[in-house]
Amino acid sequence: MTKWVYGFGDDGAEGHAEMKNLLGGKGAGLAEMNHLGLPVPPGFTITTEACGYFYAHDRSYPAELREQVECALAGIERSLGARFGDPDNPLLVSVRSGARVSMPGMMDTVLNLGLNDRVVEGLARKSGDERFAYDSYRRFIQMYGQVVLGIENHFEELIENHKLDSGVLLDTDLSADDWRILAAGFKDLVAEELGRPFPEDPQEQLWGAIGAVFSSWMNPRAVTYRRLHDIPGDWGTAVNVQAMVFGNMGADCATGVAFTRNPSTGANEFYGEYLVNAQGEDVVAGIRTPQHLTIAGKQANKSALPAMEEVMPEILAELYAVRRTLEDHYRDMQDIEFTVQRGRLWMLQTRSGKRTAQAALKIGVSLVEEGLITREEAVGRIDPASLDQLLHPTLDPKAKTTILARGLPASPGAASGEIVFTAEEAESRASRGEAVILVRIETSPEDIHGMHAAKGILTTRGGMTSHAAVVARGMGRPCVAGAGDLRVDYAEQTIGSRNIVVRAGEIVTIDGSTGEVMLGAVPTIQPELSGDFATLMGWTDTVRRMKVRANAETAADARMARRFGAEGIGLSRTEHMFFQADRIGAMRRVIMAEDETGRRAGLAQLLPMQREDFAEIFRIMKGFPVTIRLLDPPLHEFLPKTPDEFVEMARLTGKDVDAVRHRALVLHEVNPMLGHRGCRLGITYPEIYEMQAAAIFEAAVLVTKETGEAVEPEIMVPLVATRKEFDILKAIIVRVGEEVMKRAGIRVPYLVGTMIELPRAALRAGEIAESAEFFSFGTNDLTQTVFGLSRDDATSFAGAYQRLGIFEHDPFVTLDVDGVGELVRLAAERGRAARPGLKLGICGEHGGDPASVAFCQSVGLDYVSCSPFRIPIARLAAAQAALTWQAADATV
Ligand code: PEP
Ligand code: MG
Repeated sequence: MTKWVYGFGDDGAEGHAEMKNLLGGKGAGLAEMNHLGLPVPPGFTITTEACGYFYAHDRSYPAELREQVECALAGIERSLGARFGDPDNPLLVSVRSGARVSMPGMMDTVLNLGLNDRVVEGLARKSGDERFAYDSYRRFIQMYGQVVLGIENHFEELIENHKLDSGVLLDTDLSADDWRILAAGFKDLVAEELGRPFPEDPQEQLWGAIGAVFSSWMNPRAVTYRRLHDIPGDWGTAVNVQAMVFGNMGADCATGVAFTRNPSTGANEFYGEYLVNAQGEDVVAGIRTPQHLTIAGKQANKSALPAMEEVMPEILAELYAVRRTLEDHYRDMQDIEFTVQRGRLWMLQTRSGKRTAQAALKIGVSLVEEGLITREEAVGRIDPASLDQLLHPTLDPKAKTTILARGLPASPGAASGEIVFTAEEAESRASRGEAVILVRIETSPEDIHGMHAAKGILTTRGGMTSHAAVVARGMGRPCVAGAGDLRVDYAEQTIGSRNIVVRAGEIVTIDGSTGEVMLGAVPTIQPELSGDFATLMGWTDTVRRMKVRANAETAADARMARRFGAEGIGLSRTEHMFFQADRIGAMRRVIMAEDETGRRAGLAQLLPMQREDFAEIFRIMKGFPVTIRLLDPPLHEFLPKTPDEFVEMARLTGKDVDAVRHRALVLHEVNPMLGHRGCRLGITYPEIYEMQAAAIFEAAVLVTKETGEAVEPEIMVPLVATRKEFDILKAIIVRVGEEVMKRAGIRVPYLVGTMIELPRAALRAGEIAESAEFFSFGTNDLTQTVFGLSRDDATSFAGAYQRLGIFEHDPFVTLDVDGVGELVRLAAERGRAARPGLKLGICGEHGGDPASVAFCQSVGLDYVSCSPFRIPIARLAAAQAALTWQAADATV
């Protein structure tokens, strides 16, 4: 027979902490507190499996459930010497939801269940407090009416009218008779709305409440919450039925909630609130202002109301003991709920407390110092994605905001500034010390200086791997991309959404961690990277197997990457080195040239710049490998587009404007992402890669001579589809390298490898690896080409795809393990079969996404590479992946 019900109480608990999946967090916590000898009112938990049954069988219950519930209820009656529904000696119960993970406030609860017109009199007699009894009764009708019977909350109106009629101000001024009259009024209201009377039978009430709690698993707010927090819909909720204890029986009663440590800072201080003579709902509902537990808490929050430490010092002492017991046992910060009934403390809940990222770090490090957990456990407990909160300025949570629009959270951090519409203006205003937000429909390489100068970037088009997103993440600038609800009017210099128009010079705030665009300046909080952060990061490095490198091409980014702990560079996109104003002209000359001579002239200008760039990066990354990718410019990013740019190009090349326009037209591509880019450019214009190879080797030679330490360049060919392409280009690189080293009279160690970013390359990885000395998975392009999904255009429908569950995640953010991942795995296997020990890495944006990092560990990659600001996240994710891997290994 299936066991659907697990009891707890005087006879001990049938469940325990490890049974969260079956009993839900609340049920498991109650059982565990029971085992620990803490005062828990007796009760029972109906399992999440019963919820599964409920939904699988047209909202009905398994046959054995009724009997098991009756039996468990009898157990409560025995232990309290009271009877459910007995007017002479009544037992009342609470009925609460409780899923595996907490979903605060999303599902339903009914308190004071078991009351009717006769039982309430018994309760009055038994408690000797009529007022309390009728207050409890009206609370029950109100809650049951709303939660189970679906009656709209007009109950509060009845209370307000009654107070007016009786000439009193506060609920506390209402007498037993007032509440009796109101309870009757509440029942009339229910009967009127429902067309039948309020259920008087306690058994009917109980089953109504159980059904309502199960049903609340599917209410719209719970469904939305699960979608936002990736909680599977088939987990279901448990139902906890528990003897009521009353915090509203007088001045020696109270109810409260507390965290065993401060949930915002992580400080080791008891942090909680309580209310005298109240029920739990009053604390959370904000009807009365809660009071602090400790005098220190009261003072810190400038509260005038007395602390529990002053009003009920013995109870607080007991709570301190409970706090110690729970922390020692759970070895984590707990979030607890309690009630004091006539001077006696009862525990109603314990669960792992939600906390800010900063608090999570502090608590992790403190628990290790206190000897409660190991360093590995501390590392395993921090959510890598939450570190983002610490690396960038964040919005002050106390600030009020007015949302103007929403886009994609393309690059984290919050920033405020006056809106400007051109990179030039962004730069000139920023040079005068002004804070600006650069607004563009989409960005292009010419905007790079403006993006750098701006505090944040806002675009209305483009996805998570669009130019703006990739560049902004690399620079650590907050960016909201693809805010499609906003209209940008360059001519009028406005952005507008529905009926709000914001003009140039007016201030907006963007939050690149949530994708929100807000009106006006919203205060922000600066990050703090030392202390606990540094300690925990140090621990991750002792646990990790995969290395973490950075995607960086400027000296500033490389330095930042080192500060964040990068162990080399995994991708230096050389085309990004040509974005600066003084270089883009020369770069355009190369691209627009009609013949080799023209190209070589442009390249000659670029060579010394490239050499110096590489040399600087080698110096910064001393002792670490640096992967430099040869040119991979989607042509449209570099072609002149505006009349001004045509004129400028004509001036630079000495041609007339028409000729320039004509050449741009010839070079125009319908689908540049699949066009003349990557190694295809190197094949058709070998002099470009020759120049770059020369610059790399010359820089390596220079820095090796300068520092006496070997520099280790890894030269990477992009967008390879066939071994033939790679062989042709490798031959050029090796030839140029040998010439440079011969001239210099020294040798530098180097590798020539390829990106795997096209399905064909992944499939033919075996033969490519015979020639390539390393692979780096370019999962941005690989995702684009495996799905046949444009990196720049997917946003228009990706949201709908996620809502419909076609995409579980944006595949440009979290690697599609089943499809793209299968190709990565296959390429890794084929590559290593051909060349044992082949160095493998990833440099697509997924290299900084925790779930994708875990996948990389499972495939056996040597390193992940990501933008500098994601490095701490990747270090932590890689450490956690290693721990999971070890644990899985240990169980085999
Ligand atoms: C990739 O395609 O994953 C990659 C890293 O290259 P890029 O984003 O520059 O195309
Ligand atoms: Mg690519």
